[in-house]
Amino acid sequence: MCPVDSKFDVVVVGGGPAGSAAAKRCAENGLKTLLLDKRRLPRAKVCTGMIMSEMAQNLIREEFGSPPPEALTTPSHIRGIKFRTQETETVTLERRMPFVWRSDFDYWLNRVAQGKGAELWDRAKVKHIAEDKGAYALDLEREGEPLSLRTRFLIGADGTLSPVRRTLFPEPPMKVQINIRLCFQGKLDLEPDYVHYFYFPDLNGFDVNFKGDVFLLEITPKPVRGDWIHRVQQAEEWLARDYGFVPGSQPLWRDGCYEPAMSRPPFPGPHPLAKDNALIVGNAAGLNVPMTGEGINTAIKSGLMAADAVIEASKRGEKAADFYISACQTLLSTLEGMYPPPGKIRQESGKGMKYFMSAILDIYSSSMNLT
Ligand SMILES: Cc1cc2nc3c(=O)[nH]c(=O)nc-3n(C[C@H](O)[C@H](O)[C@H](O)COP(=O)(O)OP(=O)(O)OC[C@H]3O[C@@H](n4cnc5c(N)ncnc54)[C@H](O)[C@@H]3O)c2cc1C
Repeated sequence: MCPVDSKFDVVVVGGGPAGSAAAKRCAENGLKTLLLDKRRLPRAKVCTGMIMSEMAQNLIREEFGSPPPEALTTPSHIRGIKFRTQETETVTLERRMPFVWRSDFDYWLNRVAQGKGAELWDRAKVKHIAEDKGAYALDLEREGEPLSLRTRFLIGADGTLSPVRRTLFPEPPMKVQINIRLCFQGKLDLEPDYVHYFYFPDLNGFDVNFKGDVFLLEITPKPVRGDWIHRVQQAEEWLARDYGFVPGSQPLWRDGCYEPAMSRPPFPGPHPLAKDNALIVGNAAGLNVPMTGEGINTAIKSGLMAADAVIEASKRGEKAADFYISACQTLLSTLEGMYPPPGKIRQESGKGMKYFMSAILDIYSSSMNLT
């Protein structure tokens, strides 16, 4: 029989920003807290690494402090985002913001949570979750060994494919998109202190960003077999023609991930958020900002709201779900209000790429002003 550990009041599954925020707040409020991640930490994450909105910057500063140099990359701050099409002038959104490799940034957040008293386990993968007499029984594989945990409160901060969400709410499935990232050594004829977005006339696109002596190409292909190969070729051709990309360059590495759908709501109805004492946060709950996909801000915000709900519920001996669901309503209605009316973007692009660019600029500007 595998050993059962029941010393924790709350188990937070997933060591991204949502999980670290939740674990930190639970631990500093006296709850015995476990923060676990299936990967070896620090772990890589497909993400541009912009700390974009005022909301993100404020939450990080207030909860975790100023990011130390080791949590930032080179450049430590970017000056903004440049949007490009082949037909129009480049449009620039000037906005200085911190810039990170997510492995380093998230590991800093992990260690702040640990410093506040949360126990941190890596290589601890949750394999099965069951409700059991008012508690949650988790089966894990920890460093290759089976282990069972029992906990009264469970926070699912386990990303887009969240096993916690899929156990609690098997239906409806989340609408997701695929992202592919390629990392190349070298330079391009593009300013390294901006992130660069490129749009084709079909509105599909890619972005390029620079970190130290590498540059990264990030692409969202259609969920069709082999489409990503075509999209990478398209991007490389544009970069070779205009920005000095050397055709045939091989990436140092390539990775990818799923992310909640950005251009339409990830669930047909309300977001699944909580049941009894199990709460879902961040990407697991599909809480990214519409259109831009920004998600560090909403991950931290929802992680903190889940922790507050757990703290309240444990004081009062009540269920955490009601506290959390009601706390999320303002955030949810803000996010819902950020989807452009259906067809608006296509309509704008029908008038010409200049109009499309202005619509994109509006979307990013309002996302940055999110507080
Ligand atoms: C291409 C791209 C670019 C992006 N750029 C930005 C950007 O510039 N700025 C921004 O704010 N956002 C950006 N985002 C979004 C952002 O990356 C996410 O919204 C954010 O990481 C969500 O944080 P999270 O804590 O909810 O989940 P995650 O960061 O995904 O963390 C989830 C964790 O759960 C762990 N886990 C999963 N399953 C299990 C299990 N069974 N057991 C244990 N652990 C498990 C995973 O290993 C992972 O570490 C981008 C996303 C993509 C795809």
